[in-house]
Amino acid sequence: MDEENDEKILNFHEMEIDDRILKAIAKLGWQIPTLIQEKAIPLLLEGKDVLVRARTGSGKTAAFSLPVIQKILSSKDTTIHQETKALILAPSKELCEQICKVVESLTIKCSREVRCIDIAPKADLQVQKPMLVEKPDIVISTPARALQHIKAGNLNIKESLDMLVIDEADLVFSFGYEDEIKDLLKYLPKIYQAILASATLSEDVKSLKSLVLHNPVTLKLEEPDLAPTTQLTHYHLAAEELEKATILYALLKLHLVRGKTIIFVNTVDKCYKIKLYLEQFGIPTCVLNSELPAKTRCHSVNQFNQGVYNIIVASDEKALEQPGEFVDRKKSKRRKDKESGVSRGIDFQFVANVINFDFPLDTQSYVHRAGRTARGNNQGSVLSFVSIKEQGLHEDVEKCLKTGHNTEESVFKKYQFKLEEVEPFKYRAQDAWRAVTRIAVREARLKEIKQEIFNCKKLKSYFEDNPNDLKVLRHDKALHTVRIQQHLADVPDYIVPPTLKNLAGVGKKRKRKGVFKKIGESSSSKYQAKKRNPLLSMKFEGFQKKKKTS
Ligand code: AMP
Repeated sequence: MDEENDEKILNFHEMEIDDRILKAIAKLGWQIPTLIQEKAIPLLLEGKDVLVRARTGSGKTAAFSLPVIQKILSSKDTTIHQETKALILAPSKELCEQICKVVESLTIKCSREVRCIDIAPKADLQVQKPMLVEKPDIVISTPARALQHIKAGNLNIKESLDMLVIDEADLVFSFGYEDEIKDLLKYLPKIYQAILASATLSEDVKSLKSLVLHNPVTLKLEEPDLAPTTQLTHYHLAAEELEKATILYALLKLHLVRGKTIIFVNTVDKCYKIKLYLEQFGIPTCVLNSELPAKTRCHSVNQFNQGVYNIIVASDEKALEQPGEFVDRKKSKRRKDKESGVSRGIDFQFVANVINFDFPLDTQSYVHRAGRTARGNNQGSVLSFVSIKEQGLHEDVEKCLKTGHNTEESVFKKYQFKLEEVEPFKYRAQDAWRAVTRIAVREARLKEIKQEIFNCKKLKSYFEDNPNDLKVLRHDKALHTVRIQQHLADVPDYIVPPTLKNLAGVGKKRKRKGVFKKIGESSSSKYQAKKRNPLLSMKFEGFQKKKKTS
């Protein structure tokens, strides 16, 4: 930290926070503040302008939301006048929705006193106007949307605004919001408290800093980009494409990977390939990529967060993570939503594992993917499949993680898995993988586009006028869908490796929900191990020490 480090760790209840917020924190199960919360909250409550630089998953949303809520609650003691006191800006709709959820969960015990709305969804200005007329205490928006409402006279904060927050500040300019921010500042009062939160301190952030902040305190967390290895374990496993597919299938079907999992690949087509492949084994997944409309993406993330799906397959879009590459994105032939980010900006909650089916194309991307797990104070693991071609990329990441964790030893652990022990899985995997042809992938994507067309409100009246077009679309069946074979969903006993047979429940449906299970552990030690390091249980211990046969 740039700030002097105090030895004593401040807890939430020592921060002069309202009881109603403390109760909400308890309900969320947060026992202690994260490092950034511990440092930022007292400064923000003092009224300082702050630039917060913290890694994704460090708890920075609550670090700025909590003081905003506290200040509004305090102001309600002295005035009954309802006014919009805080404006929180973020570069994507998903991020706005995520911030809104954090604010809502922190105000659960004072929702009447502190009202918050998210105006980022692209509803008609007139539709959102009535919500703004009520002058909610906190307004969350993308810069463009906020400016539209201000200019339309729906949002007047010239006199009332006390706090301005800009989250993911490093992405704000690169998402093309520079002009909007400059314009927006003209409609703010002369004095207000400003907070910038950002994962990096790029040149863009420095420009924003000089535009928005006055004598700020910079909180630069001196912690690595990723959680420590005691909290986040990195595994690697050498495998080529088909082997990757087999291992993935075996891991999921043998319940060795448990808890919420994000599988990352490098292309949009591959997302669908994995989805269709796993579907054949009765493993439901949802896909996430920047070519999907924002609403669909939010829906997928919500379903994942709510546990409808435990696995999400995401295509990592490099350009979305690197602000400097925004211009290139505009040149892309395929339509992409500029407000979308798969690795940044969307909060996947309680992710136990990240699986890199395709190894990320650069170190930054690895860090962003890995940062989706081990968030807050939770445990997490990353398992990367590394093909011969990907070895160079793996070595680069290895070097970077060594430096980041200040160690000479490799941060990666070798994931023990003997493919020959799951031979029957291999045959099934081969068939299922080949069944997902390029045409099947294309048709799966087409099906999704059609679904979007059916759901599109703007086309509703067109279809009402032209019912035949709708009929044609509905009956235009895909020709090359993957045939689902019911038997593939089961794992018959004879294909379960002998070393796993003693495990209660392997091969059968498990009831207990958990993170991972370490092979050969008793229940209590299993629980302990889970608490210590969830990914230990992905290790096929039995394969290392094979039983002697007489
Ligand atoms: P953020 O960096 O704000 O996106 O937060 C990452 C995750 O950490 C979110 O899922 C929060 O619910 C969680 N979180 C935030 N603060 C805490 C805390 N003090 N203790 C445990 N989890 C937290």
